[in-house]
Amino acid sequence: MALHQLPELPYAYDALEPYYNEQTVRLHHDVHHKAYVDGLNNAEAKLAEAREKGDFALIKHWERELAFHGSGHILHTLFWNNMSPNGGGPPVGKVAKEIDRCFGSFEKFKKQFSAAAVAVEGSGWAVLCYNPSFQKLEILTAEKHQNLTQWGVVPLLTVDVWEHAYYLQYQNRRATYVENWWNLVNWEDVNARLEAIGV
Ligand code: MN
Repeated sequence: MALHQLPELPYAYDALEPYYNEQTVRLHHDVHHKAYVDGLNNAEAKLAEAREKGDFALIKHWERELAFHGSGHILHTLFWNNMSPNGGGPPVGKVAKEIDRCFGSFEKFKKQFSAAAVAVEGSGWAVLCYNPSFQKLEILTAEKHQNLTQWGVVPLLTVDVWEHAYYLQYQNRRATYVENWWNLVNWEDVNARLEAIGV
């Protein structure tokens, strides 16, 4: 099977400045995201080897590695595509209507999402998702992304609040990082994801 690849950024490394600086983006993408891709490929290879040998002595470890690196790869890919140098401002299109319907208004949604992101303990994510079971948008948080249990939801928009995502530029000021991140949100990308699932 083909190996997973680190996707190129859909913009230049310095395109998100001043809100997200080149040095932080470069380290985050080239080193941290790449480590998830490499870890995912390695976990898949080790699981294939285990199947081949019929030796599942380390199955717990490699299943955990698969979940950790696979989740990291998916969420980072979403995170990069959710940002744009031309982003920010209020949402447009379908997602604007859905946010109004599910959260009351964009301002209320934004406050809840920011508060959720800032409150995540340690390392994790805030994620806007569509939940087909309830037919509505939800904000979910992950404190350990490998333990995500919201099966079936479709992630639409995420902000990375692991310290590696912001410490170089913002040190411990996570709330400022999250506030500035709103200037980069690519609502067209969020709309395309909603449309892809027929909402
Ligand atoms: Mn990250």
